[in-house]
Amino acid sequence: MAAILLAGGAGYIGSHTAVELLNAGYAVIVADNYANSSPEAIRRVEEITGKQVKLYEADIRDDKKLLEIFRENQIDAVIHFAGLKAVGESVAKPVMYYRNNIDTTLSLLEAMQETGVKNIIFSSSATVYGEENSVPYTEEMKRGVCTNPYGWTKAMTEQIFEDAAKADPSLSVVLLRYFNPIGAHPSGRIGEDPRGIPNNLMPYVTQVAVGKRECLTIFGHDYPTKDGTCTRDYIHVVDLAKGHVKAVDYVLRHNGTEIFNLGTGTPYSVKEIVESFERVNAIKLNHVYGNRRLGDLAEFYANADKAERLLGWKTEKTLDDMCRDAWNWQKQNPDGYRKSN
Ligand code: NAD
Ligand code: UDP
Repeated sequence: MAAILLAGGAGYIGSHTAVELLNAGYAVIVADNYANSSPEAIRRVEEITGKQVKLYEADIRDDKKLLEIFRENQIDAVIHFAGLKAVGESVAKPVMYYRNNIDTTLSLLEAMQETGVKNIIFSSSATVYGEENSVPYTEEMKRGVCTNPYGWTKAMTEQIFEDAAKADPSLSVVLLRYFNPIGAHPSGRIGEDPRGIPNNLMPYVTQVAVGKRECLTIFGHDYPTKDGTCTRDYIHVVDLAKGHVKAVDYVLRHNGTEIFNLGTGTPYSVKEIVESFERVNAIKLNHVYGNRRLGDLAEFYANADKAERLLGWKTEKTLDDMCRDAWNWQKQNPDGYRKSN
């Protein structure tokens, strides 16, 4: 049974990936400093799967601690989720973002070098395509000019991994470019738990629905899209998590760097999200149309063919599933992991 270290594994995508890896028979080790998460998420992963996770409270930048984790465990592959991810905050605190997101990467690579671990998967983002490329995005397009420090940390980290794999031909790197993950595990036991006012659309929608926020503002309705609101490639977090299981199978069998888009290939508009959410959950969502948000692209979505071809993965869940599961999580856990059962 291969063992996978999830750096930043207590977070939204990491916890869902832990469930799918455990279900697929992998041993899972999680290291997280809970900068944006809670150990409760991992307790619930164990509850859902009936299997155990080896959990470390650790800052991935703490080289000494990290080396201890690598030495205590026979690690076959690493998944690097550990990063700060709020775009607006990255504009206000760029140094904090570069320090955290780049240093976690360097520490992981050094610990791998020291202990002979050769396989790593990185949580990158569609944001690296920048503004220059046209949709749908394909993996061979050049990285574009990012619009904020968060995006640059993803682009720079991709470069670091590519250079490291070039220098060491025995290294195997998979860069996963996520599109817009939403939804939650169908059990409603794990999900997205943002701190403070959510920046992203779906947590804002669910917090309006549960009465924590008054009204959703739809940012812009004069875009050159099907209904004037922005479109994105929303992907159910469970589909995304299953993509990681396929990526683990792949990274263990190959060398060099491979990039995969993880998206559905189908764009939906903000208006369609609101409509689907209202319909499947039989809820009226208080919303208004407002100004465009600075830096938003009108539309972006994946060409997801490469992942299907090389990983044998494609998404299975629908937009309705995403909206139903997001609400199921929010209504069972109105305060996220903090005050719920
Ligand atoms: P998240 O914030 O829920 O998870 C990130 C985890 O990393 C958190 O548990 C946090 O506590 C941990 N972490 C951060 N810095 C750390 C450090 N120095 N040491 C140890 N742990 C640390 O975010 P997520 O949505 O699960 O995203 C996971 C990864 O995927 C991130 O790198 C993110 O940038 C990337 N990503 C996310 C999205 C998205 O929309 N959610 C899209 C594209 C890429
Ligand atoms: N959005 C919105 N209101 C909100 C939050 C987001 O209309 O309160 C829109 C935003 O303009 C974008 C889409 O929803 O078109 C997805 O935004 P999110 O921040 O979730 O993802 P990203 O813009 O990073 O793709």
